[in-house]
Amino acid sequence: MDIKDVERFRQLLLKRREEILGASKHNLEAAQEFGRDGVTDLADEGSIAYNRMVLVSLSETEKKQIVEIDDALFRLKNGTYGTCQSCGEPVGEKRLGVKPEAPLCIKCQNGAEGKR
Ligand SMILES: [Zn+2]
Repeated sequence: MDIKDVERFRQLLLKRREEILGASKHNLEAAQEFGRDGVTDLADEGSIAYNRMVLVSLSETEKKQIVEIDDALFRLKNGTYGTCQSCGEPVGEKRLGVKPEAPLCIKCQNGAEGKR
């Protein structure tokens, strides 16, 4: 995978991350608007606490996706991105195009799901 592909997938991953967090942030703001009576204003709490609140408001599936995306971003950095975390074979560009955070090739993914 050359540097251009790495950058392309990095942008893809960041966009997905933003989409998941953005949707959740919207829910959170709506919830705040609803119960705004003496509750601490999150805007004053600093972005770390705010981000934590956003994460807490995520569903289990969304949290798992964020973890997978962060993991994929880490692998992009250390150069193991696109390699199956189970068998070491390439995950495949086509699969990464659909699911850029995928840690496993389709064969291992199917195997993992079959075991469950
Ligand atoms: Zn594999």
